[in-house]
Amino acid sequence: MNEQAMKLAPGNGILARYPGLVLLFDVADDALTAELLAAASTAAEQDQPGRRLGESLIRLLAASGGKLPGLCAYGSVEGGVAALVHGPATITIRTESGEVRLDGRDAVTMVDKVVPGPVSSFQAVLGDAGADADTWSALGTGIVRADAFWVGGPAVAEPPAEEPPVAEEAAPGPPGVSGVRCRKGHFNDPSLSYCGICGIGLTQAGKAPDHSERPSLGVLMLDDGTSFALDKEFLLGRAPEQAEEVRRGTVTALRLHDPAVCDVHARISLDGWEVGVTDVDSVNGTYLRAPGAGTWVRLPSGVRSVLRPGAVVAVGGRQFRYDTYRKS
Ligand SMILES: [Zn+2]
Repeated sequence: MNEQAMKLAPGNGILARYPGLVLLFDVADDALTAELLAAASTAAEQDQPGRRLGESLIRLLAASGGKLPGLCAYGSVEGGVAALVHGPATITIRTESGEVRLDGRDAVTMVDKVVPGPVSSFQAVLGDAGADADTWSALGTGIVRADAFWVGGPAVAEPPAEEPPVAEEAAPGPPGVSGVRCRKGHFNDPSLSYCGICGIGLTQAGKAPDHSERPSLGVLMLDDGTSFALDKEFLLGRAPEQAEEVRRGTVTALRLHDPAVCDVHARISLDGWEVGVTDVDSVNGTYLRAPGAGTWVRLPSGVRSVLRPGAVVAVGGRQFRYDTYRKS
């Protein structure tokens, strides 16, 4: 798809296209603009650039206290395309099996999705207004000013959809997650190179797309030796059972005995194939040590950070580690 001609709508945003990767973002200050462009050019040089860019953007989002401009990105990953959108921006992707529309306002952090290929068209628009492609524009690789782009799709943007009503509860979509099955039938994260259960290679020929109930995404290993399977979401704290959502049964209370832990301190959420941690306005903060990193980073409150296998999280005087048998 990336070799196809790209049309664009001139504007004040910045559109950067590299082989295997595109990033479009709204006006930001010079320092942030330089960081975003550096993240894109670095990711473009790596394997699975879509995944690498996603990781960089989540880090930038955390480092900036959640203050990134509206942005859209796509990048190739094994077996398809990873699409990312944050803030006031939308992405529409068409494949053989239909159309997917992602709106950055649907998540506090970032909406991201791996769309199994082949992708027939991809369009990204910043802001609320629809934008029209310029008749004569075409971008191979490079960095230009633009507010929208289209690859392989119609050159005219569709009118923005009506703002959907805010649902009190999660909309009843199809349950489960999309994944792939290895040749032996094990259900896997589509971004993995090897089956997490039997270790067989998930090559293009050896995997079949499927939609099924989400398996456990691994375990939380607490510093006291207890572990909790990640087949549900948890609310961590000294008295998390007081929280309304625990009483409603949408999340499971995980009590941590420590004077520096707040009654309700942090949340562990499951999104697709990813495990996330969010600080819930705690007094002493929630800290993350990325796998292999030597330093702790305090998480901005209310912003979901993705946990990579091996990541360690500190809340008050307690710690836990996220582990999974999945090999990426
Ligand atoms: Zn398998």
